[in-house]
Amino acid sequence: MRGFQERAEVAAVVQLLTRRLRPLAPEAVDLHAAWGRVLAVDVTADRPVPSFDRAAMDGYALRSAETLGADPVHPVELEVVGEALPGWPCPRPVQPGQAVRIMTGAPVPEGADAVIQAEAAAETAGRVRIMTSATPGRHIGRRGEDLEAGSVVLRAGRVLRPQDVGALASLGVSPVPVIRRPTVSILVTGDELLPCGSRPEGFRIVDSNSVMLEALVRRDGGLPDIAPLVPDRAEAVRSALLQAPGDVVLVSGGSSVGQEDHAPRVLAEVGELSIHGMALRPAGPAGIGFLGERPVFLLPGNPVACLCAYDLFAGRALRRLGGRSMELPYATCVLPLARDIPSVPGRVDYVRVRISNGQVEPLATRGASNLSSVTRADGFVLVDADADRYAAGALVTVYLYDPPGNTP
Ligand code: AMP
Ligand code: MG
Repeated sequence: MRGFQERAEVAAVVQLLTRRLRPLAPEAVDLHAAWGRVLAVDVTADRPVPSFDRAAMDGYALRSAETLGADPVHPVELEVVGEALPGWPCPRPVQPGQAVRIMTGAPVPEGADAVIQAEAAAETAGRVRIMTSATPGRHIGRRGEDLEAGSVVLRAGRVLRPQDVGALASLGVSPVPVIRRPTVSILVTGDELLPCGSRPEGFRIVDSNSVMLEALVRRDGGLPDIAPLVPDRAEAVRSALLQAPGDVVLVSGGSSVGQEDHAPRVLAEVGELSIHGMALRPAGPAGIGFLGERPVFLLPGNPVACLCAYDLFAGRALRRLGGRSMELPYATCVLPLARDIPSVPGRVDYVRVRISNGQVEPLATRGASNLSSVTRADGFVLVDADADRYAAGALVTVYLYDPPGNTP
């Protein structure tokens, strides 16, 4: 066994990932499956929306000039020559002295240039008295008012919101070109592990990383695939790696320099081990390499280190392949520190914190093996590589584990 000679800086690793990875090719999906996906092309309106002038009120379509001076004492009387309903245009044009009864969303008939709301009119026996004057265009939703023909509606790279899929539907865009979701093979190593779903027994512990990584991969828009547990033998790790089909491969455990840590050696043999050892606590013993063009992440088995290495490296890669931002997918807030956070220059520290009374409390944590340190935390602070501490009272950025609105 020998220790890490050199550790890679987090920022340099992120640069490497940015350089080596490109978004996957687009695929076409049904509109109903498009929410949350990443749009692959700019979408331009190929026609105006709405494509016809339509009533914005229930009332009467008429020629505005004829209503000049109309009020309740001096109403203007018009002949009602027909009706326009949504989807059912009135076949007759509006001639001088005429009006058409019209409902919201119905096409405005030819000849009319305004709609008077029903409240300002009284209809009896085929005639309507108009008790207000209208300006041209009054209560009419103009053709192209929502979207002009030729305008860019949504840009490539947009993570589609619910209202976006609605806008795409209104333009008749279906299927929708989106970036393919990366598939992610999750390989978990460790002879001490029982499969996720078992009860812990004797000196064996239950694998908690696979299910945690599965959730993280889903969050980042990937399609996780968990392989059967991999024994701590070089041969088993090798064949698991060679058989992993994912666009991204995650290996949990055995990532360090101990005699049971086969993954780095095996990856160097069958592919490329680009980086081994990170200037990051608690995920120092992590590695990154490639099998052909597919990135492989060697994540420490310690669950907190596994989470940390996933978030800072693997998740970013996954989001890059999926056409998403490489920023950490957490809401942030900036608050003062309640106590000092000591650190060592030259490495980034992933410090679990709680927020109480508007202050950031670093949690006293021992090592990276206790998941309770991240279940109890509200979020984490990243101490810059060049800082030797963050002092009490300093404003720090907290990455919040929960999206806004989730209960604590
Ligand atoms: P390793 O990185 O394989 O040396 O494992 C470091 C520590 O994390 C050991 O205490 C392991 O038992 C524990 N560990 C490894 N893999 C897992 C896992 N999948 N779930 C929970 N704990 C694990
Ligand atoms: Mg292990």
